[in-house]
Amino acid sequence: MNNVIIIGSGCAGLTAAIYAGRANLKPLVIDGYEPGGQLSMTTLVENFPGFPDGIQGPELIENMRKQALRFGAEFKAGAITDVDLSKRPFKISVGNDVYETQALIAASGATARLIGLESERKLIGYGVSTCATCDGYFFRGKEIAVVGGGDSAMEEAGFLSKFASKVHLIHRRLDFRASKIMIDRARANEKIEFSTPYAVEEISDVSKGGVENVTLRNTQNNEMKTLPVEGVFIAIGHEPNTKVFRGKLDMDENGYLITHHGSQTNVPGVFAAGDVQDHHYRQAVTAAGSGCMAALDAEKFLEAHKDA
Ligand code: NAP
Repeated sequence: MNNVIIIGSGCAGLTAAIYAGRANLKPLVIDGYEPGGQLSMTTLVENFPGFPDGIQGPELIENMRKQALRFGAEFKAGAITDVDLSKRPFKISVGNDVYETQALIAASGATARLIGLESERKLIGYGVSTCATCDGYFFRGKEIAVVGGGDSAMEEAGFLSKFASKVHLIHRRLDFRASKIMIDRARANEKIEFSTPYAVEEISDVSKGGVENVTLRNTQNNEMKTLPVEGVFIAIGHEPNTKVFRGKLDMDENGYLITHHGSQTNVPGVFAAGDVQDHHYRQAVTAAGSGCMAALDAEKFLEAHKDA
């Protein structure tokens, strides 16, 4: 029997583990599909307070993990396959292993969306990327594409224009979801060229193990065109990792967990922290802050229900 299980080992989960560990709760952290979360896939983090010269994302995560271990957190590899939140103790399944816990912190984060092409999947890490911050540096002096029409796409196109010789911004509609200021900024950038309304039909060349071009289809007249790019950045949003909570915890229309009074979900004893409940700020420092809140809320809950 555990006092508290934390699902996810990104910034939110690890901060919750540090706080729960220091409260003597001996938290069990279940790593999830992406141990370390999104920070483990980034390079330099310059906006996390306390590091005037910045810190590498994986190093920041490793430090948090060590800090959690120091205060008695235990880690298990694996991803959650099922949860039973109908009564306490909650039951958390990782394949055939079932763990029981008096309190639960969901910090399972969000994953970058993909277009769904086979070539896209096969070329991830070989010219296709979902993280401009991580991989932009590899495309110095090269022509690249950014796919998406939201703020992320605009922001990433601007960031990548610092490295690339040219950035093609590809979006499937003529209208953008991005805010006006972000669109204006991208339009004013002479290295960014807009391709709208175009959908990506194919990324070539899988047989050569790298990106040589993208084939686009005009979504209004089906005309095809090819752009000679060496990198493709997919910036079409994120999907919260909440599948196992469907029908068990309240979510918004996009599947993000809904929290109230800090980190509480609709099930007493279940708390949520980080990107799994935040599609707005999505920063390492806000995830860490909400992880702290969830651990403090869980501690208070356990104290109030210790005889239950
Ligand atoms: P988003 O606003 O949901 O935009 C996703 C974009 O990707 C949309 O333009 C969408 O096209 C397109 N898309 C989705 N699925 C696609 C597919 N299968 N194929 C091709 N295109 C596809 O996501 P986001 O840009 O990541 O932004 C998420 C939130 O973070 C927003 O609230 C945003 O304002 C915020 N954010 C803010 C900033 C900032 O202010 N600095 C920076 C980044 C993000 P359609 O429009 O046709 O659906």
